[in-house]
Amino acid sequence: MKIAVIGTGYVGLVTGVALSEIGNRVTCIDVDPSKVEKLSNGIPTIYEPGLEELIRKNLESGNLSFTAKHQEGLSDAEVVYIAVGTPQRPDGAANLDYVEQAARDIAANITRNVIVVIKSTVPVGTNFHIKDLINKNTKNGIQIKIASNPEFLREGSAVKDTFHGDRIVIGTEDEQTADILAELNQPFGAPIVTTDISSAEMIKYSSNAFLATKISFINEIANLCEAMGANVEEVAKGMGLDHRIGPDFLKAGIGYGGSCFPKDTNALVQLAGNANHDFNLLKSVIEVNNHQQVLLLNKIESRFGSIQGKRVAVLGLAFKPNTDDLRESPAFVMIPKLCAMGADVIAYDPIAVSNAKRQLGTDIDYTEDLHEALNNADFAIIITDWPSVKNADLAIFNTLMKEPVVFDGRNCYALDKVKQATLEYYSIGRPDQA
Ligand code: NAD
Repeated sequence: MKIAVIGTGYVGLVTGVALSEIGNRVTCIDVDPSKVEKLSNGIPTIYEPGLEELIRKNLESGNLSFTAKHQEGLSDAEVVYIAVGTPQRPDGAANLDYVEQAARDIAANITRNVIVVIKSTVPVGTNFHIKDLINKNTKNGIQIKIASNPEFLREGSAVKDTFHGDRIVIGTEDEQTADILAELNQPFGAPIVTTDISSAEMIKYSSNAFLATKISFINEIANLCEAMGANVEEVAKGMGLDHRIGPDFLKAGIGYGGSCFPKDTNALVQLAGNANHDFNLLKSVIEVNNHQQVLLLNKIESRFGSIQGKRVAVLGLAFKPNTDDLRESPAFVMIPKLCAMGADVIAYDPIAVSNAKRQLGTDIDYTEDLHEALNNADFAIIITDWPSVKNADLAIFNTLMKEPVVFDGRNCYALDKVKQATLEYYSIGRPDQA
């Protein structure tokens, strides 16, 4: 099929590339000409394992192209995907400005009755609103069909998730559109859930809210474990073997971040409020997460008192490993607080340093070298469980730091290894090794 994808961020780029890989002719459109130029030359604009090879392969085969001109991508398309951002407004609701602009771009440029597929995460009711917006603004009486096809990929494994997903959700108003999209998605091999549009929109928010709930739940259990002398890892293992619970998303830590969970949980609370429903459970999930992000600071304060002038190695800037995405990373909560407490911060990340410099400025030091970060540090804080950190030889903390004091927000190390390496070690929901 001839497909246009509007927006080449994490979702749009991976979607467009994957659709070209399974044999469609895909044009990816982005308003940012610098992204388009890089991508047209086979240079990925995001860090995502396996993506570069697929971009280059499909550019070469002619199945994939990039443009900053909407007309170029839309005039010929049979199916148009909207994959632009839906960031959080100050009141927590989803900002639909980019989706609405994409809708106007579609209306102005399509030349046939296309199917418009909304991949962006949007509040229930948005698909109908966008359909009306497009149909009111098209030329020559063109009328589109709308479909909700929410995205479940995880940054850091987006390509793998696209080709080995757990399910593909397709919400439509009619069977014919559902059949066309089911056939289009069939090569991805995942079970396809066809449903109505509002349910499809709701599946996305409910899934993210449930995962966030699991994380906040285990973090609360971790805090109780600390107070009661239990070990959250043992507890999670014992819980997770129960099939009704499952082992995933039961890893205690400094809380969830990223471009989805924080904004989608807030958006669902707003959405519930609009329907006169007070979503107390989800409000608590968000509150627990906000609190969790600063717990390590409390531990640091009770260990050191003042940290004025202390050299602090912050290990990890990305909100999780294998991505350069910094959106809502706990590092961005932690670092300004450490600076305000007078610490001298050096931040380590293997790939997100240049992104971070743009956002955090140059008041702190940065490095892509773990050893340089630890060198002469008074203490270290682990924010991201990068493999380079997780698999590090624990001897380096002793050999490089002034004192081997480590606050681990990701429970990277087994306690017996920590003991062997004689670290002073504080983690989440496990006994301190002081
Ligand atoms: P992003 O911010 O990384 O990318 C959005 C892109 O759209 C940008 O490159 C921007 O320049 C472009 N854009 C904006 N308006 C445009 C227009 N009118 N025409 C052409 N291009 C335009 O966003 P993302 O992280 O890919 O997220 C996109 C959507 O997918 C969001 O709704 C998000 O909630 C959802 N989602 C994201 C993830 C994820 O892991 N990032 C996972 C599932 C769902």
